[in-house]
Parts: sequence; C-alpha cells; structure tokens
Amino acid sequence: MQFETLAIHDGQAPDPLTGSVTVPVYQTSTFEREDLERRGEFFYSRIGNPTRKALESTLALLENGRFGLAFASGVAASLAALQVLKPGDHIVAGLDIYGGSYRTFEQLMRPWGVNTSYAASESTESYEACLTRETKLIWLETPSNPLLQLTDIRAISRLAHERGILVAVDNTFSSPYFQRPLDLGADIVVHSTTKYLGGHSDVIGGAVITSDPGLHLKIKNYQGAAGAIPAPWDCWLILRGLKTLKIRMKEHEASALHLAGFLEQHQAVEQVFYPGLASHPQHELAKVQMSGFGGMLTFALKGGLPAVEQLLAHLKLFVLADSLGGVESLIASPAKMTLGPLSDEEKRRRKCTDNLVRLSVGLENASDLEDDLRNALERK
Ligand SMILES: *Cc1c(COP(=O)(O)O)cnc(C)c1O
Repeated sequence: MQFETLAIHDGQAPDPLTGSVTVPVYQTSTFEREDLERRGEFFYSRIGNPTRKALESTLALLENGRFGLAFASGVAASLAALQVLKPGDHIVAGLDIYGGSYRTFEQLMRPWGVNTSYAASESTESYEACLTRETKLIWLETPSNPLLQLTDIRAISRLAHERGILVAVDNTFSSPYFQRPLDLGADIVVHSTTKYLGGHSDVIGGAVITSDPGLHLKIKNYQGAAGAIPAPWDCWLILRGLKTLKIRMKEHEASALHLAGFLEQHQAVEQVFYPGLASHPQHELAKVQMSGFGGMLTFALKGGLPAVEQLLAHLKLFVLADSLGGVESLIASPAKMTLGPLSDEEKRRRKCTDNLVRLSVGLENASDLEDDLRNALERK
C-alpha cells in the first residue's frame, strides 16, 4: 500500500469495541486485571496505552520500520535512542545539527562518559576521519539545521556497518514522506513529532523507529523506566496530523521551491540554502536520497543583522517564532534563536552567521508569501 493509505488506515483501524472510526483517546492511567495471574495487553499507561500504541504502529509503518516508540518530546526521543550506548562509547555527529541535540551530547551525554566528535555535515570523509575505536554511533541530521546540508545516509551506513557502528538519523526536517532513512541503511530514526508529523503547532512530541528487535527492546525498556511518555490526547493529535502528512508535505515543498527561486533572484539576498535548487552543492544527492526537498529553507541577507531586523520589522505573514513544520509560515534567526546560547567561536565553526534567516514555509498561498517577503525586503 502507498504512503497516504498507510497513514490513514494501518495502525488506525476502527475501534473493535464500539466501531469508532477514529482511534479513541484512552484517557486512563490504568486497566483492570482479570485476576492476580493474568493481565491484558495494557495494564498501566506509562508502559502502554492503546492510543499511544496506534501512534507507535502508524509511525513505524510510515518509516518502513518494524517498531515505533512515542515520547513526550523530540529531545526525550533523542535521549532515549542514545540509551543504546554505554559510558566509554563515542559518538560522531554532524556539526550542523539541532541546537538541542548538541546540548544533549554536551550537557547530558558527556558527563555520563559518552563523548561526541563533530564532522562536517556534508562530507562522508569527515565522518570517517572522526571515527575512533570507541565509536559506537553516528548521529545524522539531513538536511541539516540551519544550513540544509545533506549527508549521504547510504554511504555513511555502509562505512559504519563495516565497523559495527550504528547509524541514527534525525528525520524531522524531511518527514518519512520525503525521506526514509531505514530504507537507506540507517538503524534508528528519531523524530520531533512536534514539527511536520503533528503539523499544526499545537503539540510537543517525539518518536524513535527501528527494525532491530534488540535496539527496540532496549529503548522500550528505557521508555517505561524513564517515563517520558506522551499523554493519550497528544498521541491522538499527532495521529490526526499523520493522516494529512502527504498533502501537507507536497504543498510545503511546492511553496518552498517557489520562494527559494524568488529569493535567489532578489538583490537583497546573498545566498539561498535549499536542496531543491540546482545551485545547491548537493542537489544531485538530494534527488536520489529524498523523494522531495521539504519545506525548510535558509537564506543569507546582504547587510548583516540590521538587514535581518529590518526584514522582521516589515513582515506581516511570517511569524517570528521557534519551531517549524506547522501550517503557518514561521521565520527565525538561527544565530539569535536556536543556536543563540552558543559562543561566537562555536557559531563561527558552524558558519552560523548573524545574517542567516530560516523559513518554515507554511500552507498559505505561495504568492501571498512571496509578496510578504518582497515587501519586507524592499521595506514597503
Ligand atoms: C525541534 C527539533 C528537535 C527537538 O524536538 P522537541 O519536540 O522540541 O523536543 C529535534 N530535532 C530537530 C531537527 C528539531 O527540529
């Protein structure tokens, strides 16, 4: 079955008890046991809940994986995936990654005895050069944040598996509609379901998907023991988002491509970073690794931070806010917002200059969005 059919049917069958067409919100903490010896599939909602199970099954199907686990946030999901490691192990991650993942590596994993080295996100050789005998996991985010660089998941998985190293991919930016890392050789997929999967900027959540029963069991045990699970109502909201993922992603992409083309021609713009543009240095890789280029784009303005401030002051539709992947278009300054806490030195290493602007292109009419950007760039 095709993606959109799976998103609507499998994992979300009508409720066997009542015939309810949508999965009910099982708002319960516990479940009655038959007797002391026997308990049903569900007995306590931290360990398992039917609404969460529907979400976890659907997420696994969409990523073409065997097992899905839902978490209370994307960062909770990332930390859970990292539990496959033990103190003394080493991680190689892309340099251009979500600021919260960097914080997890540096502030949670490093004191716990797991160090991380950072490779140039766009270079397979750079990842290879960072490997040590202790490396047990390669952590990829592709396209990366905020520079939209690509990492070749197939090539990295090949070199990792030759050495018994696991590969995890944060697939938040693409969603499984445009990229399926497990099909490309990755072992673990992580999501912030807060973004495209929920899709409406109204819920925080995360997920881990794998096809390896051993990895799944480790992460599932951690889920039950650490307890960062999503509430049934939040699971239901994400399930609802998944049903329209395909049509939303297609529209996000069409408008992002349109705006990328517009911005690339505009004289106030220094550079546009979008994998769908022929000018993107990894456009060819994007065409084979992804089935679409997504709704995120970054551009650099001529004129530094003052130009960014001017742009923000004149925009009417784009909302200045963290996050991405919702129906409404958002704009952010990576240097001031997501990567704001980093030192100037760290920002320089990441090529995160203060003239960068990141757009999450929403579902408004693309010409309206173009007009909003043009008017603001020309200070009308
Ligand atoms: C937002 C985000 C996260 C963290 O997710 P939360 O739901 O905010 O905890 C992780 N990775 C990427 C790429 C993100 O955009």
